Amino acid sequence: MTAGGRYPGSCEVCSGYWVTYAPAAQPVAIGESIEYMAEVRRCRFCGAYWEVGAFSFPQVISRAHALKQLPDLDARESVHGIGFPDPPEVPGS
Ligand SMILES: [Zn+2]
Repeated sequence: MTAGGRYPGSCEVCSGYWVTYAPAAQPVAIGESIEYMAEVRRCRFCGAYWEVGAFSFPQVISRAHALKQLPDLDARESVHGIGFPDPPEVPGS
């Protein structure tokens, strides 16, 4: 279990990305939701889903939430050919 600091449900790599913007730590862009006006990204290290909104701070979301935004989530992820780990539990989801 990893402590995500101010981003519970994420690992230090992807939560640290929003501080360092190191390219290697950048969560993989899965797709954009027009309806939510947000981009869904996923960490290749811990599998956490991120919602990066046009007008809000990045936040960790559950897989169920990511599926609502991108119903074709599985197809979009398989394009990347990355064996994402199962995402950590997101507190409060
Ligand atoms: Zn991570």
